[in-house]
Amino acid sequence: MGIRSNIAIEAARIVNQRKVLYLRWINENTVAAAVRGSSNIYIVHINIDSGKATCTCKGFYYKGYCKHIIAVRNILRTYIARASKVKNESMATS
Ligand SMILES: [Zn+2]
Repeated sequence: MGIRSNIAIEAARIVNQRKVLYLRWINENTVAAAVRGSSNIYIVHINIDSGKATCTCKGFYYKGYCKHIIAVRNILRTYIARASKVKNESMATS
């Protein structure tokens, strides 16, 4: 199993254990989220348009990606899928 798949499993665990504490839009295309780590809370920023993301953890600092970003992306994907479903349903009824 590669590093990437391990990180995907860890990211899924972060989501399942509800370690993403909050998720807020800080402007039109940027989401900020707080993720509980083992000893710290990390802040993730994701630009929805460019897909660029940052995290305050050491893993991101050294590798440029981390499980916190993947976890927040997974949650966002669910939200966006849900939001567009609601939008489509309301459009269908109007
Ligand atoms: Zn991180």
